[in-house]
Amino acid sequence: MLKPTHIQGVSLEDLAAQFGTPLYLYDGEKIVHQINALQQAFAAVPLRIKYATKALSSLGILRLIRKAGAELDAVSIEEVKLGLLAGSTPAEIIYTPSGVSFAEIQEAVQIGVMVNLDSLPLLERFGQTYGSTVPVCIRINPHILAGGNLKISVGHKDSKFGISIEQLPQILELVQQYQIKVVGLHLHTGSDILDASVFLKGGNVLFDAALHFPELKFLDFGGGFKVGYHPNDKATDVAEVGRIVGEAFQAFCAKYGRQLELWLEPGKFLVSEAGYLVVKTTVVKETPTLNFVGVDSGLNHLIRPMMYDAYHHIYNLSNPTGALHTYTIVGYICETDTLGSQRELNTVKEGDLLVIQNAGAYGFTMASNYNARLRPAEVLVWEGKAFLIRERERFEDLLRNQVTIDL
Ligand SMILES: *Cc1c(COP(=O)(O)O)cnc(C)c1O
Repeated sequence: MLKPTHIQGVSLEDLAAQFGTPLYLYDGEKIVHQINALQQAFAAVPLRIKYATKALSSLGILRLIRKAGAELDAVSIEEVKLGLLAGSTPAEIIYTPSGVSFAEIQEAVQIGVMVNLDSLPLLERFGQTYGSTVPVCIRINPHILAGGNLKISVGHKDSKFGISIEQLPQILELVQQYQIKVVGLHLHTGSDILDASVFLKGGNVLFDAALHFPELKFLDFGGGFKVGYHPNDKATDVAEVGRIVGEAFQAFCAKYGRQLELWLEPGKFLVSEAGYLVVKTTVVKETPTLNFVGVDSGLNHLIRPMMYDAYHHIYNLSNPTGALHTYTIVGYICETDTLGSQRELNTVKEGDLLVIQNAGAYGFTMASNYNARLRPAEVLVWEGKAFLIRERERFEDLLRNQVTIDL
């Protein structure tokens, strides 16, 4: 894996000195490159990219993604509002919540975003309330087990997401009864899906179901493209997915009798590799069994290693050529807090800057204030310049909504 010392000519060491550590850094060019790669892969179909906002929802990032030609998939009303603040129009946003109240659906309809419904009771309420007046999308659970691990597999039959494909007759009954205007069908199978065949399998489920809905405008294949986290990891060959799925999609449209749009909802694929978490070594601690490197960050800033057993590559930015040793890199949280176990790094000493790679997706958005720690600043590098897009938290931020009481 490359161990960049610079992003677009800007030195990571200088950025760490300027903005302090821990620091989330994003390479805007990489994000745009990924959007372009998807657009090229699916050049043969009318494509809309609906970026999965939850992967990284800072306004500066959302603005860049829009500028690069992608639209948004939001999973909460708050994400919808962030998208609007970043310049997206309601028409560019699909709202794909899971298990929310009907009040939130009504708010989304009022805002004017495309709503994606994921249960029969919501579909019925929707029909009763809006009849045929508001176009809508339905999330199908295709009963496909795929994804990096069970926590990120969301399209299997025991998953809470979507309306089971086996309940298609009930869906059709409600659509008929209330004359619901179904303009899209959606599925999202999970995350870290490597094989084009899984996307095709999902596609075939949608194609079969779609023949029952005469008013469709799009089919949404969700996200889940795998990117390389470990040096030996394979990434999804999006060119292959584009070719295979694109071809099947065009064949389906011919059969359906009308050209539809193909929507994708990549999260990780757009922002994972663009992100770096730069941390500082606070202590190097040898025990009888292990060499620990302690850093000024932890699972409060990047929970993926502890939550998903995710591998994130780590390198020593301050000493790129020193002798290699084996270290276990740990955070400062009072909890087992391992960022990387038994890693080969160039000799680490106190004060060295370490870089944790692939930190763009589900990094900052899953960060917390656990242990009353503050969240890092975020910097976006774009056209060779560094933009602070979020200030480092201050102690006052921990107090902001607390109410002091006298007992
Ligand atoms: C999380 C999510 C995605 C994005 O998944 P990635 O693995 O980051 O590509 C897409 N669509 C929906 C509905 C999601 O919940």
